[in-house]
Parts: sequence; C-alpha cells; structure tokens
Amino acid sequence: MVKHKAKVDERECLSCGGCISVCPVDAVFMKNLRAFVDQSLCIGCSICVNTCPIGAISLEE
Ligand code: SF4
Ligand code: SF4
Repeated sequence: MVKHKAKVDERECLSCGGCISVCPVDAVFMKNLRAFVDQSLCIGCSICVNTCPIGAISLEE
C-alpha cells in the first residue's frame, strides 16, 4: 500500500498558519516564513490540503 504524505509548495505558501493549526499530529512547522511538513510524522490525512486557502499543499507518494 502506498502511503501519501503532504508537501507544501513553498513558492505559493502565504504563511497564514492554517495548516499548522489543523494538523492532528503536529507535522507542519514554519521555517523562513513558509510551511513545511515533517514527512516522518505526516499520516496523510489530507486535512491540511483541504484547509490551505490557496491550494499550496498536495499529497504525494
Ligand atoms: S496530511 Fe494530515 S498529518 Fe499530514 S501534514 Fe497534513 S494535516 Fe498533518
Ligand atoms: S495553509 Fe497554505 S498558505 Fe497557509 S501556511 Fe499552510 S501552506 Fe501556507
């Protein structure tokens, strides 16, 4: 089974912090005013993907 992980397109991120506040496992953090996902923590729930107002997060294999 392929497990998906969230990834932020850092060129698009607006640093709104929405994804950080919704992640159930605290896998998202801010670095240089851009959101990053710690893929070792991400469980692929896609909540952040659906939360990002500009669609900057996608799930990747
Ligand atoms: S997909 Fe879920 S677990 Fe992974 S970073 Fe987004 S909210 Fe967190
Ligand atoms: S929700 Fe989207 S725009 Fe906001 S910090 Fe996360 S990735 Fe960036």
